[in-house]
Amino acid sequence: MYIDISEILSSKGKEITVSPELGLKDFHFGGVTYKVDECSAYELHISGGKSRIRISGHVDLQLSAPCSRCLDTVHISLSPEIDRSVDFDQVREGILEDINDICFMKEESLDTDVLVYNELIPHLPMKILCKEDCQGLCPVCGHNLNLGDCGCDRRSPDLQMSAIMDIFNSKQ
Ligand SMILES: [Zn+2]
Ligand SMILES: [Zn+2]
Repeated sequence: MYIDISEILSSKGKEITVSPELGLKDFHFGGVTYKVDECSAYELHISGGKSRIRISGHVDLQLSAPCSRCLDTVHISLSPEIDRSVDFDQVREGILEDINDICFMKEESLDTDVLVYNELIPHLPMKILCKEDCQGLCPVCGHNLNLGDCGCDRRSPDLQMSAIMDIFNSKQ
């Protein structure tokens, strides 16, 4: 969603509070697809004037993404605090301290979805796991090992690696 901020830019001391609609339904980052299941609160305060604006606020989101081991759905709650300021003279001249700023600024409007996306990225978990000791999927039959053993003969990755090394060495 785009918010027109031309009025804020033209009159110093002007301030608005908005509850934008979140257009972000899903997004990709680091090879993972995140789904936005719910946005329970979303408010932005935009203030400034004289070509410099400050955007602050917060957003409460419920995301879901597949567990990196068993692919089961993992629910993630994120509530990043937003606090940014942008110098529009720099935007116009194409010089910006933070390269992220240019993405959510379009002329004299603010792309709130890109703003939120930029805020979410640093808060995403390093690794998505349904639980710390997730057993993952059986590499032979694809059975979810958290639900019990499937009885397949699974050699440890170390054994598989040493088998590969044996073949490699025999060819030397
Ligand atoms: Zn898992
Ligand atoms: Zn199996």
